[in-house]
Amino acid sequence: MRLILLGPPGAGKGTQAQRLIAKHGIVQLSTGDMLRAAVAAGSEIGQRAKSIMDAGQLVPDEVVVAIIADRIGQPDAKRGFVLDGFPRTVAQAEALEQLLAERGLSLDGVIELKVDEGILLKRIENRVAEMTARGEPLRKDDNPEVLKDRLAAYRAQTAPLADYYAHKGMLKTVDGMAPVDAVTVAIDRILRPTGAATTSAKAANRTPAAKKAAKKPNKTKKTAKKATKAKSASKSSARKAASAGAKRRKSGRKPVAKTGRAKNKSGQAKSLTRRRLTKAR
Ligand code: AMP
Repeated sequence: MRLILLGPPGAGKGTQAQRLIAKHGIVQLSTGDMLRAAVAAGSEIGQRAKSIMDAGQLVPDEVVVAIIADRIGQPDAKRGFVLDGFPRTVAQAEALEQLLAERGLSLDGVIELKVDEGILLKRIENRVAEMTARGEPLRKDDNPEVLKDRLAAYRAQTAPLADYYAHKGMLKTVDGMAPVDAVTVAIDRILRPTGAATTSAKAANRTPAAKKAAKKPNKTKKTAKKATKAKSASKSSARKAASAGAKRRKSGRKPVAKTGRAKNKSGQAKSLTRRRLTKAR
């Protein structure tokens, strides 16, 4: 299983990614975590990325694409992965597509966690206040001011990815403001085999005759029946009209509209049936 979790910083992608890896035996690939590890290790990439990350901006595409290209080729990613924080630009999404195609792989889905930015800011303010009160260390970019910049970067560069994947028919959205467990349930539901899959499994067990019968939906059969009925009805009315015409020619009678009413001597309307009965007598 290969998935992307989309959503602004603080939407809960990391938490949901953790649950997904535990459930599906896949790995979490978080470019944010990898970059922070690079910064901590003091590597060349880390040194390049540090000030950009501290400012809440995006690290250049080629840097993160190179990290991901290397990571998805590693053995533990063979069973699948959930991408958290990548791609963040359309260029990264295109690069990912190419990376996967080169390996004969594809994505199984893109899940967007939709959140309210105002509430998100409140959440992070509360979290920062709690952590500060407990004397816990804070991430440099984990403060309301930098978060505002990260949200702005998300809106400008990452939010268009929702449309990008929606156009490909791959995007599924869940309410990221719901309680964490409810979000997990919603994601599970998306990933569970759908009704369509169950139906096709049933179809695979059908006998050839049943399959043939199932191929023609009832509606079509009914329509076909109706068409045959209408055809024979029109044939029989054509036959009736022809014989009525022949009779008229014989008797020299003028044709009478079937729904029309003839008048009797006193000017009263006489039903067609009565008229025929009278004539027969
Ligand atoms: P995150 O933990 O995913 O919010 O990422 C923390 C920071 O790392 C971001 O604010 C960016 O500076 C940088 N970063 C992480 N992932 C990417 C990415 N895919 N493209 C560019 N910058 C990234």
